[in-house]
Amino acid sequence: MPRPIHATIHTDALRHNLQRVRQSAPDARVWAVVKANAYGHGIERAFHGLRGADGFALLDLDEAARVRRLGWRGPILLLEGVFELRDLELCSRLDLWHTVHCTEQIDLLSAHKTQVPHRVFLKLNSGMNRLGFAPHRFRSAWTRLNAMPQVDEISLMTHFSDADGPKGVAEQVAVFEAAAADLPGERTLSNSAALLRHTATAADWVRPGIVLYGSAADHPEHNAADWGLRPTMTLASQIVGVQDLAVGATVGYGSSFVADRPMRVGVVACGYADGYPRHCPGTNAHGTPVLVDGQRSRTLGRVSMDLIGVDLTGLPGSGHGSEVTLWGRSSTGAVLPIDEVAHAGSTVGYELMCALAPRVPVTMTED
Ligand SMILES: *Cc1c(COP(=O)(O)O)cnc(C)c1O
Repeated sequence: MPRPIHATIHTDALRHNLQRVRQSAPDARVWAVVKANAYGHGIERAFHGLRGADGFALLDLDEAARVRRLGWRGPILLLEGVFELRDLELCSRLDLWHTVHCTEQIDLLSAHKTQVPHRVFLKLNSGMNRLGFAPHRFRSAWTRLNAMPQVDEISLMTHFSDADGPKGVAEQVAVFEAAAADLPGERTLSNSAALLRHTATAADWVRPGIVLYGSAADHPEHNAADWGLRPTMTLASQIVGVQDLAVGATVGYGSSFVADRPMRVGVVACGYADGYPRHCPGTNAHGTPVLVDGQRSRTLGRVSMDLIGVDLTGLPGSGHGSEVTLWGRSSTGAVLPIDEVAHAGSTVGYELMCALAPRVPVTMTED
């Protein structure tokens, strides 16, 4: 028998979350963001659940090629655009739309020999100061692109830094509206958090990633269930060892958990080499939530490479072979939101999904 750890991708939950996106932005078209191998879900599996989207947005050319190989003939957008001249040949060949966020990318386009003009998304830096043209350079970039035979339609794009928090998006929206004021073209501004919290920014296209994968973009202010989202990834394993602890006994490397009463610890076949974050605490003061046979418990001790301890003290019916849900949905239907596990480890659901390790076998279910 293989090591019992495995991940499950729930394609019906992907479909459900996409519907949820459409409810929030009924008049917008939806780019399903499938970068980073669909946030760790696998492009092919995610495509199966998300083929009802209007387009797929991603970063890597090989991921774009994989989406085309799945038979997708609709729009594909390269969110960071191209990195070198020959990428543009592939854009022509695979009919990829691409972001243009800097002068160097306009220079590449002007050097590109093509019969087929490209659809581009001109990106404004509206205040995040990551990618995009500064507002005072935006119009001249548009004018230059508009005069080029290599360019077909130009759409306008920006990205929010604080859609999930108290600062919000108003300032960036104002910068975008001023810079784009009388320029023609479709607009796209919203990521997941904006889509849920600032519905007025939906414009022509929305660009949700994390909500499609069932994570609340603004956890801990809201939970996935508050937004009507369902988990799309389950990481589950089993208890492969059990120890009884006397008072004063410790668990794991560094003895970071000390039993203050007689306890029972289950040892789970899951560790940081599977993608479970080593930062998730299992000290006396702070544990990380986990489900054992669908019932809530907590981790005990430090996460090691292949194993982690969980508290079985209040769960007399559980033991060797019991199902452990690290995040997602247990076979009883109980849900442990990935955001809660991430929060305990001082990170976000995004990182946990993306870090699912290659050694973990993944299967797909329709429910
Ligand atoms: C990753 C990404 C998104 C999706 O972000 P989420 O927070 O996952 O919704 C949208 N737009 C751009 C430009 C991105 O890079």
